[in-house]
Amino acid sequence: MPVSAQLFDRASSVIPGGVNSPVRAFKSVGGTPRFIDSAKGYTLTDADGNDYVDLVCSWGPMILGHAHPAVVEAVQRAAVGGLSFGAPTAAEIELAELIIERVAPVERVRLVNSGTEATMSAVRLARGYTGRTKIIKFSGCYHGHVDALLADAGSGVATLGLPNSPGVTGAQASDTIVLPYNDLDAVAAAFAAHPGRIACVITEAAAGNMGAVAPVPGFNEGLRALTTEHGALLIMDEVMTGFRVSRSGWFGRDGVAGDLYTFGKVMSGGLPAAAFGGRAEVMNQLAPLGPVYQAGTLSGNPVAVAAGLATLRAADDAVYAALDRNAERLGGLLTEALGAAGVEHHVQFAGNMVSVFFSDRPVIDYATAKASETWRFPAFFHALLDGGVYAPPSAFEAWFVSAALDEDAFDRIAAALPAAAHAAAAATPEGSRA
Ligand SMILES: *Cc1c(COP(=O)(O)O)cnc(C)c1O
Repeated sequence: MPVSAQLFDRASSVIPGGVNSPVRAFKSVGGTPRFIDSAKGYTLTDADGNDYVDLVCSWGPMILGHAHPAVVEAVQRAAVGGLSFGAPTAAEIELAELIIERVAPVERVRLVNSGTEATMSAVRLARGYTGRTKIIKFSGCYHGHVDALLADAGSGVATLGLPNSPGVTGAQASDTIVLPYNDLDAVAAAFAAHPGRIACVITEAAAGNMGAVAPVPGFNEGLRALTTEHGALLIMDEVMTGFRVSRSGWFGRDGVAGDLYTFGKVMSGGLPAAAFGGRAEVMNQLAPLGPVYQAGTLSGNPVAVAAGLATLRAADDAVYAALDRNAERLGGLLTEALGAAGVEHHVQFAGNMVSVFFSDRPVIDYATAKASETWRFPAFFHALLDGGVYAPPSAFEAWFVSAALDEDAFDRIAAALPAAAHAAAAATPEGSRA
């Protein structure tokens, strides 16, 4: 029995489902998850000694590749200096300054420990600032496991096909208005139906949690105009896109300014830290300046901040050019292999995030994502895994490239793809391992 399978058995008797975050369990693709021993550059090595070209990158953060020397060195140096102080440090200022320098609409930043905390805090702040209760979110967008934001969410909620999560009360969900992504008319209608009651619209700046689904031209601009017109705040969730799809995230691509931003993933270089920020006038409503409470024992943790600083400092124009180039090259290989195998598909991009949809039409929202032939995905995924390529174990997740991918990595991807494409072509709805 493979070591990964033994570990999964053991894990399953002490950790629910054997994992600490649901999508890791391979439930929608079947089989047992690979337990990872170590990672370096673009390579993941599992507990059985198998190597994989990593196209998940810890769900986004590892843009430089794994164990990047500058990041490892910064973390080691910080750790030697003490693991946590519960008091401010100079490095926190540097990270806040770096974020503000890169994302123009952000004037103040507060550090937190996860993307979930960032969106939860941003929504609380929007409600506190506006004195309103209702919020708008979009189907298929994922903003972490915040009670009020789980409705019709993407990511693991989509992967597992959960309609709504038990444990979220009617009261917590009743102020959440869920609308189709890329549908401005629906947003205008919601504002008309709830005059003066909507505190904010929260959106992924470009959706990545139902697969990569970019906003259609004019969508983010329209959200900006409608929120301004109705006195609501626009929260741009850039936890996934931030510092990945450009040095300034999605804002660097479309220039539409939100009032509040949430960041995570890349900005902490693989350690647990995240941030929210925005206009000073809004952010200054936070305690201790203002009445909106928000806090964290480990917020601004020196080791996590060191990893984030080292990552952002190393993420120069050459890194962003490599990410874009690698995403395009990956997309080209996917299209070529699936085309050759005669599988109907759309390879989609949101910046340098990539998705494969087994669909005869472009995916623009959660309904079209769910209408795709997701039952082809398990066979495709497992053939890639057998061929040494680690793709996200879900039809509803984006694929993430790193700047560390080289000729050898692309040779291995190109070698694994034809068999995977044929497996996808041969798949049947009944044969799905889910
Ligand atoms: C990952 C993600 C989150 C949640 O971040 P966690 O650190 O997992 O809590 C929130 N929003 C978006 C867009 C994400 O991709």
